[in-house]
Amino acid sequence: MILKIANLSDGIHEMFFDGKLSEIGLSEPFVNSYKMELHMDKRHNQIVLGVTLTLDAKFTCDRCLAEFIQPIESIFKHVYLFGTELPEDENDSLTYLPFDTDKIDISKEIFDYSQIAIPLKKVCQDDCKGLCLRCGTNLNIKPCDCKNEEIDERWLPLQQLKNIPQDGIK
Ligand SMILES: [Zn+2]
Ligand SMILES: [Zn+2]
Repeated sequence: MILKIANLSDGIHEMFFDGKLSEIGLSEPFVNSYKMELHMDKRHNQIVLGVTLTLDAKFTCDRCLAEFIQPIESIFKHVYLFGTELPEDENDSLTYLPFDTDKIDISKEIFDYSQIAIPLKKVCQDDCKGLCLRCGTNLNIKPCDCKNEEIDERWLPLQQLKNIPQDGIK
């Protein structure tokens, strides 16, 4: 995603983009299209870019294994400074640009921040009932006939021992 800045005056610029994911270099787990709002504060020596990226992602539910689409919003800020980079100045949200720069490429920022926005826990709905551990029925769709046997707490330590892999016991 290239932003042309050569003819932009100093000041605030609001921009809006939408289109196909491939235009901004994204693919799975993201699907469908994207929307992006840009807020650009351009000065003679720097550009502060605020980005709100709205995406759809397709995940497999951790509990019931069904596929579902979840809206994802990635909001980030990136600062571009005109000038020469100081070697000790390592900052992921800062990029140095030559003074005669006429465009900036925000592809890497879009990619990195969209990956960060992917949730660790992927659940189709907050109260997803998951799969029955015995028969595998998706309990969101229908209840199963398995008896909900209460586990006798006295046997719990033994059950946990059984779950330790053999090579874990030395
Ligand atoms: Zn689920
Ligand atoms: Zn069952």
